[in-house]
Amino acid sequence: MIADALSKLRSALPAGVALVAVSKFHPVERLQEAYAAGQRIFAESRPQELSAKVPQMSSDVQWHFIGHLQTNKLKLVLPYVSLVQSVDSHHLLEAISAWGVANGRVVDVLLELHLGAEETKQGFTEEEILSLCHSCHSERSEESFPGIRLRGIMGMASNTEDEAQIAAEFARIEGLFHRIQSLGLPGFDQLSIGMSGDWPIAVRHGATMVRIGTDLFGPREY
Ligand SMILES: *Cc1c(COP(=O)(O)O)cnc(C)c1O
Repeated sequence: MIADALSKLRSALPAGVALVAVSKFHPVERLQEAYAAGQRIFAESRPQELSAKVPQMSSDVQWHFIGHLQTNKLKLVLPYVSLVQSVDSHHLLEAISAWGVANGRVVDVLLELHLGAEETKQGFTEEEILSLCHSCHSERSEESFPGIRLRGIMGMASNTEDEAQIAAEFARIEGLFHRIQSLGLPGFDQLSIGMSGDWPIAVRHGATMVRIGTDLFGPREY
């Protein structure tokens, strides 16, 4: 039961840690069940799937995007989401900022960190994130992005059973997050780490949101 899973998660998560229900690959009936049990934040990873589900859900749902976003798909995603968690390139940042300016919006985004464990993973390195945040901080920089607001970092730990390794990776992300916060970037306050297998470790390392699919909805259906 989704309602049972939800209430277990809610009682286990500290106040101040947002539960993001990762609903990708689940039919909209499952999302509606979660909504009826009080869940309001949902995350999708594919533009078409997101834009198909949005009109079938209540308008007070907050949608997050967590997948790889191609710049030719912005129109399918940006009108509907309150947060893009998965910004993984400079090119994408520029494109989202330009969309924001053209549409009179400032789009909240997280920078996706690539820890380097898996070669195929998308994202910025720690150095890239630091230098981006430095340049966004200095107002006269040509590298500032008027159509976006940097809200924080999204990261994933390696897919391993080794809890010490996962904890070490989350500690590294947390360290980077605090280093950037010390620059005083306004609004930079979100650390999105932790998924079904590892969210308790992420919570111990300062997660402000956890992204949970399988523990909530069961195995993905399509
Ligand atoms: C699918 C996905 C999740 C959720 O994974 P579960 O293991 O099902 O909880 C979290 N974050 C991202 C970026 C994802 O793509």
